[in-house]
Amino acid sequence: MYLFQDRGGRSVALRPEGTASVVRAFIEHGLDKTGGLSRFYYLGPMFRAERPQAGRRRQFHQLGVEVFGSASPYQDAEVVALLTRLLEAMNVLVAKKAGEKGAVLKLNSLGCREDRPKLTAKLKEYFTEHLKELCPDCRHRLGVNPLRILDCKEEGCRKAAQGSVVPSDWLCKDCLNHVERVKETLKGLGIYFEWDNHLVRGLDYYSKTAFEVIHAGLGAQNAIGGGGRYDYLVEVLGGTATPAVGFAVGLERVLMAQEKEAPAASSVWENLKVFVATVTPAEIPVALGWAEKLRLRGIPSGVNVEDRPLKRQMEQASKLGVKLTLIFGPEEVEKGVALIKDMKTGQQEPHSLSGLAAAVESRLGNGL
Ligand code: AMP
Repeated sequence: MYLFQDRGGRSVALRPEGTASVVRAFIEHGLDKTGGLSRFYYLGPMFRAERPQAGRRRQFHQLGVEVFGSASPYQDAEVVALLTRLLEAMNVLVAKKAGEKGAVLKLNSLGCREDRPKLTAKLKEYFTEHLKELCPDCRHRLGVNPLRILDCKEEGCRKAAQGSVVPSDWLCKDCLNHVERVKETLKGLGIYFEWDNHLVRGLDYYSKTAFEVIHAGLGAQNAIGGGGRYDYLVEVLGGTATPAVGFAVGLERVLMAQEKEAPAASSVWENLKVFVATVTPAEIPVALGWAEKLRLRGIPSGVNVEDRPLKRQMEQASKLGVKLTLIFGPEEVEKGVALIKDMKTGQQEPHSLSGLAAAVESRLGNGL
C-alpha cells in the first residue's frame, strides 16, 4: 500500500482496491441492518506500491461489482456471468471451450472458516517439508497464509506446489454442494470455465467461490479481473454478518486484451457506417440531428460540420469506407426528404424523413 504523511502530518493510505471501501460504506450507512439484497458497482483509480512492470502499474483503474445479502450459489453464478458478459461487451474475447483463443475463466473454491484451519495445517505441514524450494516471499507466507503459496508464480514454488494438498481436498459438504451448484449453473448459462485448484485470491477475506479471468497473451500479469465470495468481511469490519460476492476488473488490462485480438483503431473516424453530408452550411444543423439519431440507434455515424463543397465531403466519405451517405440540400430539407447514397453502387435515391433511420438500418443489414 501507499502509506505516507501529508503536509498536515496525517497518515494517509491510498486505496489498493475497492471492496473494503464498499464494505465500510455499507456498514457506515447501516445497510447491514436492513437485510435484503444490496448491489453496487464502482469505477476508479487504485494504488499499489508494487514494482511496475508490463501490465502492473502503481496507479490503475478498476471497475468493480459487489452484491451483499445473498449466500446463494446462484448469486455467485450471476456475478460470474456478469463478469464474463461485461468483458465480452468490452470486446475482450472470452474462450467458449477448451483450447480456444482469448481469456479463460478459472474457478476454485477456498472453503469456509471451518475448512480453512484444516487446510492451512495440511499446507503448512507439506510446505515445511519443501522449504528449500520456496522463494523468500513464500517462506514468509508459510507462517502467515500458506494458502497463497499455491498461487506463487516463482518456478521453484510452482514445482513444489504441484504435489501439494489443495483447497478442494478439504471442502465440507456444504461448500462442495455450493460450488457444484455454481458450476452447474455456469454450464447451463453456456459459460465456459476451467477448474483451477491453485487459484487463490490475494486477500485473506475470501471464502467459498473464487474466480479469475486470465489472458495467456498478457505475460506475467495475466489476470484481467477476479473476485469471489467474502462472507466474513462485513463482520470482520464491525458490521452484522452479511454474505457477499463480487469482482473487480482491471481496465488497463482490458485495453491490453482488446489489443491482442483487434489492434487499436488508429482514428476515431474508423468503423463508421454512415456519413451525413450537406449541400450548403445551412443544412448542417439538420445533418447533425440525423447523425445523432443514427448514433442513438447504435449506428456509428460521421457528419460534416464545415463550410465546404459536397464533392470534398463525398471524397471524405469514401475514404472513411462508410456504406451509406445521407445528403441534405436546401431542396431535400424543403421536401422533407434525404438522399441515401449507396457508396458501393453509387446509386442514390430520396427517402422521406419518416422512417429514414429504419431505412438506413435495414440497408446496412447484419453488417452493422
Ligand atoms: P485484484 O484485486 O488484485 O484481483 O485486482 C483485480 C484486477 O485489477 C486484476 O485482475 C487486474 O486486472 C487489475 N490489477 C491489479 N493490480 C494491478 C496493477 N498493479 N496494475 C494494473 N492492473 C492491476
